[in-house]
Amino acid sequence: MKSGLVLGIDIGGTKLSAGLVSRSGLAGEVRSAATHAQEGPDRVMEQIRDLIGQLAGGPGSRVEIDGIGVGAPGPIDIRSGIVKTMPNLPEWEGYRLKKILENRTGRPVRLINDADAAALSEYYFGRARERKTFATLTLGTGIGSSIMLNGRLWHGASGVSPELAHIPISGSGPKCGCGGRGHLESFLSSHHMIERVRRAVALGEPTSIDMLWLVSEDGGMREIIEAARRRDRVAVREMQRYGKYLGRGLAVLTNLLNLPLVILAGGISNAWDLIETSARRELKRHVFLALADRLTIVVSAFRENAGVLGAGTLFFPETDRIVDWNDA
Ligand SMILES: [Zn+2]
Repeated sequence: MKSGLVLGIDIGGTKLSAGLVSRSGLAGEVRSAATHAQEGPDRVMEQIRDLIGQLAGGPGSRVEIDGIGVGAPGPIDIRSGIVKTMPNLPEWEGYRLKKILENRTGRPVRLINDADAAALSEYYFGRARERKTFATLTLGTGIGSSIMLNGRLWHGASGVSPELAHIPISGSGPKCGCGGRGHLESFLSSHHMIERVRRAVALGEPTSIDMLWLVSEDGGMREIIEAARRRDRVAVREMQRYGKYLGRGLAVLTNLLNLPLVILAGGISNAWDLIETSARRELKRHVFLALADRLTIVVSAFRENAGVLGAGTLFFPETDRIVDWNDA
């Protein structure tokens, strides 16, 4: 019999989180650990097994769950459960995550891209309830993208979700995490913004941002956002620049699909009020008004835990209508 409980796991670049999810949302606390992704996938599998043990018990004291849902960054082949590539982490390439985790835990596993997981959390619990067509963009270290069309999450010929992050925006732009140049993500990664602010501080531009904040990505981004709120010139300029490039990404999306709703998730979405004006201005520069004025842009309902929540819906019966696990 189905228990209605699913264990959701979010493999983030810096943090690994897990929690039990039911039809009403999170059932209990979310447990987290720093991701040892650099030490290879086997080490991360051990960490996942630890978290599963804490939340769902081991042999003898098992909590009944319908399965384990996993969200991970980068292109994931949802049909085979294989990690296609992971930027800067070659050992993960081609990793058969679904099979391996199933063997180690004895439970059914489903794997999805983290942006798709965020989209599912919005669909079941957040801003996209009752909606059938929308995009979700996760704005953080990298850019994740997910598109739901007429009630189905779009996975292309290779079984992967769209990679808006690597749309070429400018031939001579900054280097992208994927090795390319001038891709949307190379302008929008938090890494790139921190680098630019660091340079401004080093050049002696008048700013209230202390270099000390800029050593870590999380702390650095938080400080830049706070500085923009206190009208620091460098921070405001960088936020506007971010908005401009995000606007170009939204223009590509709108010209292509004319979606009614875009949900922004991830750490930088908290600064939407600071980037909205320049993003909308750039969007209007590249899109016919008739298309742009039907687009609603909202910020995710979840500050944290969207990944765990979304991964935890992968064994809900309706999810089989949303995700084409088998089709090629
Ligand atoms: Zn790229």
